Formats: sequence, structure tokens, C-alpha cells
Amino acid sequence: MRVGVLAIQGAFIEHEQAFERAGHIVSEIRQARDLETSLDMLVFPGGESTVQRKLLRDLEMIEPIWQRIDAGIGVYATCAGLILLANEVDGQPNELGRLSVCVQRNAYGRQLGSFQTQGDLPGHPNVIMTFIRAPRILSADKNVEILSTFNGYPTAVRQGKITAFAYHPELNGEIYL
Ligand code: GLN
Repeated sequence: MRVGVLAIQGAFIEHEQAFERAGHIVSEIRQARDLETSLDMLVFPGGESTVQRKLLRDLEMIEPIWQRIDAGIGVYATCAGLILLANEVDGQPNELGRLSVCVQRNAYGRQLGSFQTQGDLPGHPNVIMTFIRAPRILSADKNVEILSTFNGYPTAVRQGKITAFAYHPELNGEIYL
């Protein structure tokens, strides 16, 4: 696949390396113009969702990116990326939402602010799941496929061509599609 990684803020380098390692052709998306190349998938890395949203706005990238999503490009989102795409964040509707989930930011609490666990994803058993100030997926609509869970909450989901993780699969150097 030709994969465009949003390289504005956060863990974009780790995503670039993981996708390259899996044999994909990676380019960095730093400005709206970078979206004009032909792409199969957009990657939203983890980082700080409030900062990312602001930078995407300032760079006038919201409209072109979300147009590509609505036109059906694949999306792979991690942590802050999941927050940008969730329909509801901390009880507030998110107008950029494209995933029928409600998330709560930084919800794993102080002691569990960052932690690792291990679990299964479809086709990928015993995946190390690293949570870093991760959002909790409080609820998901029926049309959302739950790919993994922790303590009864979904931690990775798929809806149409969007796959999103609360944890950081890129830290394993792998892509789970
Ligand atoms: N806590 C961050 C946020 O609210 C997400 C953390 C992450 O991406 N690792 O955006």
C-alpha cells in the first residue's frame, strides 16, 4: 500500500518505520499539498490530540484530510488518532468524528497512566499492548467491530476502512491489519 503518515506531531517516525518494515511505501503528510499524491491509507499517530487538532486546523488540513476519509481512504489511527476520529470525546460531540465510539481521554488513571498488557487481535495472538495516557473506549455502536479488549473495555476497533487503537502497536514494530 501507499501509506501517508501524518507527520505533524507525535509518534509518526515509529509508524513510518513499522509500515516500511511491513513492506509499504510510506510518505509524510506535513501539509495539505502532501495529500495530492495517490494514497491507499492515512495514518494518525499517537501524540497529543488537542495539539494535533489545532495544528491540523492552523495548517488548513482538516478539510482535505476528512474529505479523503469520506471518500473511503483506509485509516490506521493510534491513541490520539483514535481521539480525533471518535464521535464523542469526554462527553462532547466531536464534529470530526468518523468512528461510532465514545472515548474518555487519559482514562486509565494515574497509576495505570502508562502500562503494558498482552492480548489477542484477530490473526495476531499475544500482542504486547502498550498504553500511554490512553483513551478508554467507553462504548461502541453495533456496527463497530471490537478487535481487542482490556478489563472489559474495547481497546482496538474497526469500522469500515478505519482501524483504531487505544494503545501503541507501532512500538512493537508491527502493523496489525
Ligand atoms: N493523552 C493523549 C491525548 O489526549 C493521547 C496519548 C497518546 O496518544 N499516547 O491526546
